[in-house]
Amino acid sequence: MKPPPFGYHAPRTLGEALDALAATPGGKVLAGGQSLIPLLNMRLAAPPALVDVNRVAELDALHVGDQGVRIGALARHARVERSAEAAAVQPLLGRALRHVAHPVIRNRGTVVGSLAHADPAAEMPAVLAVLGGTVEAASVRGRRTIAAEAFFLGPLESALEPGELAVSAFFPAAPPRTGSAFAETARRHGDYALSGVAAVVGLDEDLRVASVRAGFLGIAPVPLVLDLTGAAGSRGDWAAAAAHVRERIDPEPDIHAGAAYRRHLTGVLAERALNAAAAEALRRAED
Ligand SMILES: Cc1cc2nc3c(=O)[nH]c(=O)nc-3n(C[C@H](O)[C@H](O)[C@H](O)COP(=O)(O)OP(=O)(O)OC[C@H]3O[C@@H](n4cnc5c(N)ncnc54)[C@H](O)[C@@H]3O)c2cc1C
Repeated sequence: MKPPPFGYHAPRTLGEALDALAATPGGKVLAGGQSLIPLLNMRLAAPPALVDVNRVAELDALHVGDQGVRIGALARHARVERSAEAAAVQPLLGRALRHVAHPVIRNRGTVVGSLAHADPAAEMPAVLAVLGGTVEAASVRGRRTIAAEAFFLGPLESALEPGELAVSAFFPAAPPRTGSAFAETARRHGDYALSGVAAVVGLDEDLRVASVRAGFLGIAPVPLVLDLTGAAGSRGDWAAAAAHVRERIDPEPDIHAGAAYRRHLTGVLAERALNAAAAEALRRAED
C-alpha cells in the first residue's frame, strides 16, 4: 500500500517548522510516524504536506525536576520508559509505557505524538488525564498551555488547532504518600487494550485514604477520569470503588468485546490497580 502524494518539509528549527505548518493548511506533523504512516498507507489520511520534525534538535528533550517530567515532542516512548530519573519523579509513566505496542514501535513512536493522535485506546492520554498534566502548543501566533481535561475532544481529535505543534507535555510529580499503578488487558501483549486503568491513591498523615483517582482507556471516546475518593472511603474499600466504576461507565461493544464484558473487565482492572496503588502509597509513606 502506498500513500497519496504529499509535500514534504524537513525543518531544522522550531521556527521553521511553525512557518512550514502555517504555510500549508491541512499539513500534518510527522513525529515517530507509527500512527501517521499506516494512516497514509491505508489512505485514511491525505494531508497536502508533512512537516517532519525529526531534525528539530530542541524538541528532543526530557526534563525531570521536582515539579514533574516535561517530555519534548521528539522524546521517544523508549527513552521515557527507560529513564530512571523520570521514574523516580513520576513512576506511572514508565509503568504505562511498557504496555504501549511493542519495543520496536516504542523505539520510534513519541509520547507527545501519542497525545496529539488522541486515540482513546492509547495509554499516554489516560495517564496525562489522571495526573492532570498539560500540553504546550506553539504556532506562528504564539504559545499556549492546554490542560489535559480540555485537550482530548473525541476519538483522534485533540484541541490542537490548525498550524499548531505540540512542543511538549508535562506530567506532574507524584506527591508524598501517593502511589500509582497501571493495569490493562489486551488480546495479545502489545495490542491496544480492551480496557485499561491508571490509578492514583493518596494518603493523609494518619495513613487514611485521602484521594483516589482513576483514568480509563478503551471504554469512552476520550480518556475518562473518575474521582473515586468517596466510593473508596478512608480505609480503601477497593471492591466498592470498583462497583462504583462499573455503575459510572458506559462502554461500547466492538468486534473484540461486548459492553457487559468490558464493564466487568474494567471493574476487575480498577480494583487491581487501586489495590496496588494503595500498597505503593503505604510503602512510600513508611519510607
Ligand atoms: C502495530 C502498532 C501497535 C500500536 N499499539 C499501540 C498501543 O498499544 N498503545 C498506544 O498508545 N499506541 C500504540 N501504537 C501507536 C504508537 O504508540 C504511536 O507511536 C503513537 O500513537 C503516535 O506517536 P508517533 O510519534 O509515532 O506519531 P505520528 O505517527 O508521527 O503522528 C500521529 C499523529 O499525531 C500528530 N502529531 C505527532 N506529533 C505531533 C506534534 N508534536 N504536534 C502536533 N501533532 C503531532 C501527527 O500529525 C499525526 O496526526 C501502535 C502503533 C502500531 C504501528
